[in-house]
Amino acid sequence: MRKSVAYLAGLALLLTAMLGSASAAELPTDLSSLSGPSAATGAEGVFSEVLHADGTYKALFEDDDSPIPVEARDVVGEVTACVDDAHSLWGWRESNVHGWHLNTSSIPSGLNASSVLEAATAASDTVTTAGNSCGRTDAVAAQAKYMGPTTAGTNIAPSGVCGERDGRSVVGFGPLDNGSLAVACVWYSTTSRPWEVLESDVRISSGHFAFFVDRPVGCSNRFDLESILAHERGHTFGLGHVSEKDHGALTMSEKTSPCSTNARTLGLGDVVGLEALY
Ligand SMILES: [Zn+2]
Repeated sequence: MRKSVAYLAGLALLLTAMLGSASAAELPTDLSSLSGPSAATGAEGVFSEVLHADGTYKALFEDDDSPIPVEARDVVGEVTACVDDAHSLWGWRESNVHGWHLNTSSIPSGLNASSVLEAATAASDTVTTAGNSCGRTDAVAAQAKYMGPTTAGTNIAPSGVCGERDGRSVVGFGPLDNGSLAVACVWYSTTSRPWEVLESDVRISSGHFAFFVDRPVGCSNRFDLESILAHERGHTFGLGHVSEKDHGALTMSEKTSPCSTNARTLGLGDVVGLEALY
């Protein structure tokens, strides 16, 4: 009984984190609405996230694998990225060197391929080296390595559904339905705690000029690819969301603003979360 109460409390925390400022009364009572897109595969779970056109990140979990935040903090009042230590961990981590590929042939002609690789590499390094402008030294042992280009696609459908994983973590571009800007999927083993990352793909919309690598003069309504990928790499390595309302300065907050490059560097809470895991 005590365990189930703790579970529900954890779930409520998660729901609150997912829904931002929504009050408890607004939380869905039918948890099947949180059901993930693909069937459960035994001792594996899948996390998926859609980046909507307004910059909102919407996370989705499979029913039976809804993670319980193992640590969540809340700070009252307006705080800056280097003061706010809020973070949430969603239960998985990457024990190995996270090898990833870039599907270079999928990069739209409007983006420079080598610049995209630089942005993706920088975003990955930011997470594994605790890149921050708060003067906090790197005490994070997470590791990632670019394994080269691939022609393999992401295991993510245009609808945003995570498919069967193929053992290869890929960042690539492709069509996405409903105006979605990007979709990320993280597959993890739930055999034992902490859950272990198996694969992490990111599909970025190729349908329109939604992104930039170098912020253009007079930027309007376009998103920074490196900031988006830093947020998604945060998920790869086990970070969860913190509410936009109270922690909007952090990379792992639930929304990103057009033309902002702030999420290229981590805030204090993002770093503290990684330090707790690695
Ligand atoms: Zn997210």
